[in-house]
Amino acid sequence: MNLKLAELFGRGKTVFSFEVFPPKRNDSIETIYKTLDRLRFLDPDFISVTYGASGSLADNSTCEIASSIKRDYGIESAAHLTCVNSTRKEIDNMLERLQNSGIENIMALRGDLVPDITPKHDFEHASDLISYIKSKDYDFGISAACYPEGHPESDDQVEDILNLKKKVDAGAEHLISQLFFDNQIFYDFVEKARIAGINVPIEAGIMPVVNSKQITRMVSLCGAGLPSKFTKMMQRYENKPEAMRDAGIAYATNQIVDLLSHNVDGIHLYTMNNPYIARRICENVKSLF
Ligand code: FAD
Repeated sequence: MNLKLAELFGRGKTVFSFEVFPPKRNDSIETIYKTLDRLRFLDPDFISVTYGASGSLADNSTCEIASSIKRDYGIESAAHLTCVNSTRKEIDNMLERLQNSGIENIMALRGDLVPDITPKHDFEHASDLISYIKSKDYDFGISAACYPEGHPESDDQVEDILNLKKKVDAGAEHLISQLFFDNQIFYDFVEKARIAGINVPIEAGIMPVVNSKQITRMVSLCGAGLPSKFTKMMQRYENKPEAMRDAGIAYATNQIVDLLSHNVDGIHLYTMNNPYIARRICENVKSLF
């Protein structure tokens, strides 16, 4: 089955998708297949696989895992691909590999600027990568990232939304949002994006926060605002791991219920490769889609 992610939308059911990441450097590749063995029963519309984020095995395993999700698990997949630290030649090789592995969808990203690594300057922004892929003889579905609270490098949200429009104009057919904890921020962002003429489906990225270490790291990376009901929850349960986990699941569940009530295009669950948490959330919301 060949399916572009954008085709999943507008079929009368809200899209529900997952993100997984390749195993960390010291872990075996088999660990991700154990995770996928359990995630498959939650019946997501697609699963995306990150690329080079969080010190993971990067390029090789992303392609292999995304290919296996489609071929062995029968679930549509998307391979993330970053460009800022790659030459045109390296991107060419990767595109060839993705195509030869039967991958249909690419999440096209710039990638973070890493202090010790000098960017290669063949691609400055995700929009350059998207234009490049579109200029080639491939037929990938292209997705891109969006930031309800603005990208941390952007001085203002208007500029960031105008830059987002450039990605869509370059050929992104579907957007997945950065995580957020205040749904109103997402609704306001979608309204502004629509006014700016961004008419592709926008999925809401939901990250269940199940321990306090995770939140410190996440917020420093992406700068998401924390509503007081969220910080109160964290303070109340930070020393009670089981309660913290259940509270985090409940918070993510409430976010999803509210988002579905507002007819969002889709929910993208950052699973953190934790099938137990994903299953608990799915059990809470599955009948609502
Ligand atoms: P861009 O769209 O290039 O935006 C970066 C900055 O440049 C923004 O401030 C934007 O406003 C500005 N900008 C964009 N286009 C232009 C333009 N044409 N002219 C001028 N300014 C412009 N990182 C990974 O390493 N691997 C992953 O797998 C990964 N997956 C992600 C998945 C999601 C859903 C999200 C939200 C992020 C993900 N990231 C991943 C993180 C991402 O790489 C970083 O947030 C990165 O800093 C920006 O990537 P981008 O594609 O949004 O960049």
